Amino acid sequence: MANSKYITIIGLEVHVELATNSKMFCGCPAEHFGVEPNTHTCPVCLGLPGALPVPNKKAIDWTILLGLALGCQINEHSKFDRKNYFYPDLPKGYQITQYDQPFATGGQIRIMSQEAGEKIIRIRRVHLEEDTGKLQHQTGMTLVDFNRSGVPLVEIVTEPDFRSIEEVDVYLKKLQRLIRYLGISNADMEKGSMRLEPSISLSKTGELPAYRVELKNINSFRFARKALEYEIKRQTELLEAGERPTQQTRGWSEAKNATVPQREKEEAHDYRYFPEPDIPPIHIDKGWLEAIKSQIPELPDDKLSRFKEKYGLSEYQANILTEDSKTADYYEETIKQARKLPGTDSQLALDMWRNTVANWIINKKLSTEETMPAQLIGAILKTKQTIEIDITRVDEVLEQNPQAVTDYKAGKTAAFSFLLGQLLKALPSAEKSALIEALKSKL
Ligand code: ZN
Ligand code: MN
Repeated sequence: MANSKYITIIGLEVHVELATNSKMFCGCPAEHFGVEPNTHTCPVCLGLPGALPVPNKKAIDWTILLGLALGCQINEHSKFDRKNYFYPDLPKGYQITQYDQPFATGGQIRIMSQEAGEKIIRIRRVHLEEDTGKLQHQTGMTLVDFNRSGVPLVEIVTEPDFRSIEEVDVYLKKLQRLIRYLGISNADMEKGSMRLEPSISLSKTGELPAYRVELKNINSFRFARKALEYEIKRQTELLEAGERPTQQTRGWSEAKNATVPQREKEEAHDYRYFPEPDIPPIHIDKGWLEAIKSQIPELPDDKLSRFKEKYGLSEYQANILTEDSKTADYYEETIKQARKLPGTDSQLALDMWRNTVANWIINKKLSTEETMPAQLIGAILKTKQTIEIDITRVDEVLEQNPQAVTDYKAGKTAAFSFLLGQLLKALPSAEKSALIEALKSKL
């Protein structure tokens, strides 16, 4: 679609299930994946008459934590509202959500876009609500499982800032990483812990057109991509024919390999939102906010830049090592231990360790659960003899061959092989790969 005369405009709603022990408004266990249907239920999450909701404090804390990590403003006054509609997976006939006073508004995520370089995706709001039950369609009947009913669900809504499917992809990965760093959800799309609802429209000028198509029922990024690609094609064809696509909700049908209309887009007033009368408004005072602020760990972007700077790692290496905080911690612990070894006081030896440990974790797909940092260090010592290379000999070889050094710096790669050959002669017992690294770091 690179040569298309239309600009793709995408906005995103992402729902994430919080990994709290209990549900949003009752004491039932929130775990529902692989659980015997309808065993984690009570009068509250079954919507029985007279049952009263009690908000889960941890879910509120985590929503605020996420809001802060996204750079949002946390609203001092917040409340829950009822969103009224009927569906078999919603026994109360309304969902408790947040309408005009969400916990957090106005944040951002910085992404790297292939087309546009570094750009900001604005977060419009972050609010907290409850999940619905789950329908399972079988031949001739539909079964309902209420284990998921009332599980805390945080919704992150962006402004329509995406201009390509790639940008959506990059954003989702960053959001997922952030959520995992905060430890508030596994954000696993396969398990339905993270679900997407993209809105898409096409524009000739880049200005928001008067319609948008909301895509529902998407449970993997692969389907989101397919549905978005399909919509770009469908809407382009309509516009080319001089028609305006209608505002509507469409679902992805894997069987038809197409998006299919579900309903004409409803407006907010169709839901008859009103304040939830059984839950008092929530006042988030300074003390509460400060307590949550103090829980924010080092965030992925900060960790990534620190890894590049402190350990001299490449963007690629630092990116993989900070993919999750466990791997990052593992790397740092290993380096800390390696520094205690004799011979690591020189900068070169240290740089080699930083690089070698990074490469071992990345290339050998090391299980950080099964291999202790000390074991990794032992294994590296055994096979590579990295720190046993006498660095003064490397310097000598370079000094003795100034022409080869000049040639290499001028871009003659053959000069590198020559220097390596000289080095192998000078240090016959050293591991070749270690010598390559030593040479590279000196050149
Ligand atoms: Zn319950
Ligand atoms: Mn929602």
